[in-house]
Amino acid sequence: MTMQRTTHVLSRREFTAMLAALALPRLSWSILARPYAVVLGTIQDGGLPQVGCYTPRCERARRDPQYVASLALIEPDAERYYLVDATPDITRQVDLIDEEGFRRRAQARRPFDGIFLTHAHIGHYLGLALLGREGLGIARTPVYCTPMMAEYLTTNGPWSLLVDEGRISFPEVPVDAWFTVDGWLRVRMIPVPHRPEFSDTVAFMFRGPGTTILYLPDVDRWESWSLRVQDVVREVDVALLDGTFFSSAEVPGRNIEDIPHPLIPHTMDLLEPVVRDGHRVVFTHFNNSNPVLDDGAAAEAVRRRGFELAQAGMRIVL
Ligand SMILES: [Zn+2]
Ligand SMILES: [Zn+2]
Repeated sequence: MTMQRTTHVLSRREFTAMLAALALPRLSWSILARPYAVVLGTIQDGGLPQVGCYTPRCERARRDPQYVASLALIEPDAERYYLVDATPDITRQVDLIDEEGFRRRAQARRPFDGIFLTHAHIGHYLGLALLGREGLGIARTPVYCTPMMAEYLTTNGPWSLLVDEGRISFPEVPVDAWFTVDGWLRVRMIPVPHRPEFSDTVAFMFRGPGTTILYLPDVDRWESWSLRVQDVVREVDVALLDGTFFSSAEVPGRNIEDIPHPLIPHTMDLLEPVVRDGHRVVFTHFNNSNPVLDDGAAAEAVRRRGFELAQAGMRIVL
């Protein structure tokens, strides 16, 4: 999939290689180091390929793996690393964090300075299990989520083991108010209407030194929200939004009312004036039925209207 207006930030390794090529090895990395977000995956909870799915799209993904929707927030100079949602694909997708400091930190079993979780649907927290004693065995990592989500993880195995063993803890943070997580990172959780089977759901706003982004991978329908999506997107520079489905005809044999999400064309109708005013809207969290994954007519229709499609590895300078 090709990207329009993808921001590429040099990794430390690329920058060092470039300086060596220019015979300027003494120039400091820090003159270019800026905090950034990197997209670690763009797929709906069920993954791509999905279990037992042999459509051309899923077969293609068997050769070219795609990952479930997630982000990392990185301050390269201070070697600070945050994860946004812990997906079933966590093992491979964190390799997209192209920072030597991250590898060092992982070996010391403290890869993340914090983990942000939107809600308790499988694509957004199952990966936590792989950070427990059978896997990386992380130590003392703050997890930022709603009180209901924290309660769910504390009272249900296997997540409760992570809590009991002191691997994760839940700092008390406000819902729907800004709080500071790091010198360069401010965060706001915003409640979002979404099937509350096990927990409530939030979107996150992340504010870096120069840019504010919104991460909202799941919502039932914009019309059920107490906020106007147009107003929320106007508060940020870049909004990564629920792009699960393009059309209601995508999932034959399933009632789309059971898995409600706003359709991409409807979201574009609502947000076109906001995009025209310079706010970037990037769709993510694509179901395996979504034709934008083919980079054909549907993807082109999105880009033609000034909207973007997230892809793994895409970076946004904060
Ligand atoms: Zn989801
Ligand atoms: Zn969900």
